[in-house]
Amino acid sequence: MQADQSDSSAVIRPRGEFHSLFSGTEGDVILGSKDGVLFRVHSYTLKTTSGWFRSMYSLPQRSPSPDQPTETIFVDEDSMTLEGLLKIICGLGLPKLDSYDVIEPILHAAEKYDMPGPMSVVQALLATPPLLSDPLRLYAITCRYGWHEDAMMASKATLTLNLHSPEHRSTLQKLGTDALLNLFALHRTRRETLRRRLDDPPFVNDSGDTSCSNCGSIVDYHTWRELKYVIIMEMDARPLGDTVCNSGLLEWPAARACWDAKCLNCDRVLYDKTLTMRVIRECIEQLPTTIDSRSSPLPPPYPAPIIARSTSEP
Ligand SMILES: [Zn+2]
Repeated sequence: MQADQSDSSAVIRPRGEFHSLFSGTEGDVILGSKDGVLFRVHSYTLKTTSGWFRSMYSLPQRSPSPDQPTETIFVDEDSMTLEGLLKIICGLGLPKLDSYDVIEPILHAAEKYDMPGPMSVVQALLATPPLLSDPLRLYAITCRYGWHEDAMMASKATLTLNLHSPEHRSTLQKLGTDALLNLFALHRTRRETLRRRLDDPPFVNDSGDTSCSNCGSIVDYHTWRELKYVIIMEMDARPLGDTVCNSGLLEWPAARACWDAKCLNCDRVLYDKTLTMRVIRECIEQLPTTIDSRSSPLPPPYPAPIIARSTSEP
């Protein structure tokens, strides 16, 4: 076969050892990995599972010579990636897909060789614990391949993270602009919606003097203002809000001060702790939990087709 000389996969590398799963004698093509491991497979399998190989085999083929009956195609992928890809398309069971260092090269190769099978296998495993444990990287992958539903699921999982933390910078830099803005919008919307809600009844707001509900004398609600500030700062660092409801409102000094505050005139407590905590929890539960992909759609997985316009259109 005549490989495309402009493609780096055409570089001939030294012949190495066969991979044990792909060492049979029946295959009619040998794939060589970047690190020199050989994989013997059937060209029929490649043609039926890969648009790239289907196109390649549609080109005129060189007749096999007696001294070289089987052609060898060297590719850019390392043996681990090639093994994963070939195990899936040859039906030899799933490779271990439990880390981003494994799935990212497989996805990259599957996209390059136009192999929907391996792509869909990885996509089906996105919500498994090893991948879900790094939600930001999960979000980056789902956006990269235009998997909207999965991107929404991943965006929800990022709510435990502080996007402003320097440790996330390198992952955020890999996101497209829309994906990045959508994620920041989700985190900010949760904080700002809660901030506005905490000024509405039954909460006291900052507009003018407020009187004690028991004796009518003017009271100072600064302890509530301080607790609101601490709640909003916590939502900024961890937009999920679980640390507000579960421990913050019980343990923060600002919370204790709020629940202990009394009217200086009649000595009655100013805030109903049980009601306040319940309403704050309800407010947090009503906040949006995923990116809104409808308002700012993620990029399509493949270049969008150019739609031919009819001549009747303006
Ligand atoms: Zn009072």
